Amino acid sequence: MIITEKPTAAKRIANALDDNQAPIEVKKRGASYYECKRGADDLIVVYALGHLFELKQTVKGWTYPRVETEWVPKYEVDKKATKIKPIINLIRRLSKDIDSFIVATDFDIEGSLIGYHTLKYACKTDPTAAHRMFFSALTDKEIQHAHDTMSNSLDFPMIESGQVRHEIDWLFGINLTRALTLAVKNTVGWFKIVSTGRVQGPTLSYIAIREQEINVFVPQPFWVIQTKTMHNGVEIELEYSKKRFEVETEVKKVVNDLEGETAIVDLINSRTTKQGPHPPFNLSSLQAQAYRHFGFKPSRTLAVAQSLYLDAVISYPRTSSEKLPDTLNLKEILNGIMGMKTYAPLAEEVLQVGNLAPVQGKKNDPAHPAIHPTGIKPTKRLTPSKKKLYDLIVRRFLALFGEPAVKEHLRADIRCNEHLLYLRGLRVLKQGWMKFYNPYAKTEEKELPELSEGDLLVLSPVHFDERYTQPPPRFNPASLLKLLEKENLGTKVTRARIVDSVKSRGYSLRDRFELSTLGYALYETLERYIPDMLSPKLTRRLEKEMEEIQKEQTDRKTVLSRAKGDLIEILDDFKAQEQEIGNALVLGLQRYWKSMEELGDCPKCSDGTLRIIRSSKTGKRFVGCSKYKDEKCDQTFSLPQKGVISPLEKMCPHCGYKMFQVVSGRRKWETCINWTECPGRKEELKALEERRAKQAMKKQEVSDK
Ligand SMILES: [Zn+2]
Ligand SMILES: [Zn+2]
Repeated sequence: MIITEKPTAAKRIANALDDNQAPIEVKKRGASYYECKRGADDLIVVYALGHLFELKQTVKGWTYPRVETEWVPKYEVDKKATKIKPIINLIRRLSKDIDSFIVATDFDIEGSLIGYHTLKYACKTDPTAAHRMFFSALTDKEIQHAHDTMSNSLDFPMIESGQVRHEIDWLFGINLTRALTLAVKNTVGWFKIVSTGRVQGPTLSYIAIREQEINVFVPQPFWVIQTKTMHNGVEIELEYSKKRFEVETEVKKVVNDLEGETAIVDLINSRTTKQGPHPPFNLSSLQAQAYRHFGFKPSRTLAVAQSLYLDAVISYPRTSSEKLPDTLNLKEILNGIMGMKTYAPLAEEVLQVGNLAPVQGKKNDPAHPAIHPTGIKPTKRLTPSKKKLYDLIVRRFLALFGEPAVKEHLRADIRCNEHLLYLRGLRVLKQGWMKFYNPYAKTEEKELPELSEGDLLVLSPVHFDERYTQPPPRFNPASLLKLLEKENLGTKVTRARIVDSVKSRGYSLRDRFELSTLGYALYETLERYIPDMLSPKLTRRLEKEMEEIQKEQTDRKTVLSRAKGDLIEILDDFKAQEQEIGNALVLGLQRYWKSMEELGDCPKCSDGTLRIIRSSKTGKRFVGCSKYKDEKCDQTFSLPQKGVISPLEKMCPHCGYKMFQVVSGRRKWETCINWTECPGRKEELKALEERRAKQAMKKQEVSDK
């Protein structure tokens, strides 16, 4: 019996291992498996559905502390996991007359754990007698090779480390969330889940600290000089050697000194630089680039990459490696890429070089190589997201074989008395690897005008411009992910989920991580009463210990009992202050709800406030006055019924009413609450309609042709 992680992987593996590449799929009550023949062996390929088993507390009660757990079938904890039961039943039945068990799940902590649990709890067999297949891509060749060279033991240190990660995350997540939620419930009787976790706490604190930095930031004025000149009938902008002036009188003096004066081209410098290709992708660099070029959230990139992996067109994406091992058949991959029309000329060029020595990065991952295309042509038409990510991965791979790019940096030094000005140019002398990586390797080229040393230039007009220093930027999904990686918090797999959870729990607003009043309340409360829940120290120590389990320097029991001890200490401390914590959170929650619902003062009566109200009769939402209930004011505005509404801190420039944002799927728009009447909004709509009509006409013309 071969145990795989997902149905698609099972199908691929069965197909690759069957002598005739024609395995038989047997369907049984909501689940299925594959039968195939390989030489003298009869193989049965079954699949899990990610984790089939999950942790459950052994002592009942929605309270804390709860620190004793056991692994149970997932459907016992999660009622929505209805597909799990037939799968476990099928595996249990089939495993009765099996000679040998082989785990062929993904080679990483989660995959190894899925295999182990399936053996132990579904097959009810001894995991120490099982075999393990290792592979980094789902291509026929790699699967066959993995089968022929499989190990006769599971990777137990990895499994132990994975178990303890689940146990510790469960302990902290469940207990801390219950503590916070019950603090609110026991104080005012409301039931609202206020969640946190081992990594979420420190993540929240990074966002909150950044928010504080932004709040206390005082913009400082500075001045810059802008100088223009005419040369051969062309206007040229020059750069003053001092970029920023802190004193206004100083900048004024320089402007006076330069205006209308004649400067001389003193020297023309040229410097060439060489830049080698970027290293191969690992998951975090792929997530960073996909965010930069396509705006994909890290979690989306992971999901899309995972799907490309299951299609067997790229290697395993959950890797930290930036290296491609010598054992990889690069020539075969490139030959495969040559069979794809889009990349054929580029792949051919790489192959002509002969000596295939890709650039390597520094980071290593013992389990998997860097992310690379397998050379297998996608059989189905790729979805737009998959197509984009695949293109990025293929081009990055091809670029690894390119020569360094050579750039020429030109600089003309222009003197005017004691003042020095510059004019810069940049030319790409040799594209090298950039040719393969385009359009992701854009360099702004800038020609230097025809200038010779000794040329005279009249400086006019010369201005100065007042600017202000900027606060540090808010995090975006990619920069937050990068910070977590740098701080060694979470794993390459969990980080994207943690970044998402900050938002889905209401702790941040909009795309940039702007702390919500709820996030702020949670942060402030924890910081005051239980700072350990925010500190990265504890969670970082746990990460280190989990790594040590993998290296067999410590064991699961020791790590787990120490973690439980720490947690119980935190929870005791919490319980002693439950009421204060509850009061602080309630205040924060009230402020949060207010900020999510209130839309400014009522224009009709003097003392009402506008807020979002849901009609109890129709379920529709609208804006109404707070004096509506007492029948003192009947002011209402209609609202769009679809999408998530969040009030904005600005007023409509046309009518002066409060603005709000609507996010519906991937569409995002802003309008004022007066949107059905607002003259500005009407004009915007008209312009939009005209644009649409024009586009439709153009399309019609094209199709007519
Ligand atoms: Zn009113
Ligand atoms: Zn308006």
